[in-house]
Amino acid sequence: MPLPKFPQQGGCHCGAVRYELTAPPLGVYNCHCTDCQKMSGAAYAMSMPVRTETLVQLSGEVSIFEKVADSGRRVQMVSCAKCGTRMWNVPLSSPEMRTLRPGTLDDFSWVEPVGNIWTKSRMPWIEIDAALVNYEGQPPSREPLYAAWSAKHGEA
Ligand SMILES: [Zn+2]
Ligand SMILES: [Zn+2]
Repeated sequence: MPLPKFPQQGGCHCGAVRYELTAPPLGVYNCHCTDCQKMSGAAYAMSMPVRTETLVQLSGEVSIFEKVADSGRRVQMVSCAKCGTRMWNVPLSSPEMRTLRPGTLDDFSWVEPVGNIWTKSRMPWIEIDAALVNYEGQPPSREPLYAAWSAKHGEA
């Protein structure tokens, strides 16, 4: 699936919060960590790191929940104040980045993950494609995931 034209728009379930992504993401991967499982209510969550300046909120009011990871890193989770749809995270350790939840884009057919992280806590019935960039836990760096995305789509 080729990349679409940017900007791409997205938003929450009730329509109050709308946002625009003005440039392609740095990558897309699945996270099988237990926090993502709990917070998504699913076996894994899709994560899409983008540069902060490329994610523009157009409307609506958000609410913020601050989560402290096992590593001690603090992450703000940004949701629609009205319907609760979580749309992106703000990692306070890397303020130049946002982690968008790609299922909130109006069209995410082009968002095919290039890897998996925290595969050691994946559900036993989830099959991991060994050809992708996979990590048993937290990757020491996301560069290999970004490189796989660039190789697939060209430089962002
Ligand atoms: Zn909403
Ligand atoms: Zn996770």
